[in-house]
Amino acid sequence: MLKIMFFLLIKIAFKMKIIRLLSEMQAYSSKWDKNKKVSLIPTMGCLHNGHLSLIKSAKNNSDIVVVSIFINPMQFTDSDDFNKYPKSYHDDIKYCENMEVDFIFIPESEDIIIDIDVWVYENKLSKLLCGKSRPGHFQGVCTIVLKLFNIVQPQIAIFGEKDLQQLRIIQKMVLDLNIPINIISCPIHREPDGLALSSRNKRLSNSERNISPIIYNSLSRAKNEFLNGEKSTKVLINLINNFINKNPEIHIDYIKIVDLKNMNELEKIISPAVIMIAVFIGKIRLIDNIFLIPK
Ligand code: AMP
Repeated sequence: MLKIMFFLLIKIAFKMKIIRLLSEMQAYSSKWDKNKKVSLIPTMGCLHNGHLSLIKSAKNNSDIVVVSIFINPMQFTDSDDFNKYPKSYHDDIKYCENMEVDFIFIPESEDIIIDIDVWVYENKLSKLLCGKSRPGHFQGVCTIVLKLFNIVQPQIAIFGEKDLQQLRIIQKMVLDLNIPINIISCPIHREPDGLALSSRNKRLSNSERNISPIIYNSLSRAKNEFLNGEKSTKVLINLINNFINKNPEIHIDYIKIVDLKNMNELEKIISPAVIMIAVFIGKIRLIDNIFLIPK
């Protein structure tokens, strides 16, 4: 009984700080206790269980958890996609409060993006895959992520493998620019039917949602073929193509099999690799990936 009361008291005493001004966030970050580890989880909000796994990892790896919510206009290449990006600030705040996040940072665009002339431009990985389909996207991501790193001053930042190319580019940015932040990655969180959780899933119509598990099904089939001995990337890509193309509602943007670390395209899989896929279901662009690790 005493134990329950103790936990209840802690719960009542806990108060998440909701920060909307950059200057207020900086006021806290300039005074972080040197003996405590701070982690940052950059998000665009509309939080779901995929974000939850990142928050859990942050809590396991640090003392102070900061979740940022910023729908970054600089990373959108389609204004319609930006304008229709789902928002649920009220629920996000509740969600973070329940998860006992310490700080939620929700800056206004005008506070973050004023007359930016200096951008962070990764010159290699950004030209592949999603970077090819969405030119300028990763430049927008890197610039804002670096700004968030500078504003929040974390020792740890958590990213999801769902956006694997983004993760690799951030890892390279941290390495190349000597940013003293440890990047931790979390596996993809999926719906029971296999669809990778994404804020954009909310925009799928019922019929689009019903066909969406085909993405993960096709990746799993290719992975099974690989585990049964198929090493040719051409064969595996054809298999996915044929499986998905049975559904005229799904338009493939790209399917590539690349090296897990450097993301170079492969012909044969003899070292750890990953299938990267991007499709449109109606107007909604969804991405996914699956690791292929040779036995
Ligand atoms: P977003 O809010 O979509 O920009 O995502 C914020 C962070 O959450 C990124 O690091 C994503 O990779 C990660 N994330 C989004 N969806 C998932 C998921 N289904 N599983 C794991 N991480 C995810």
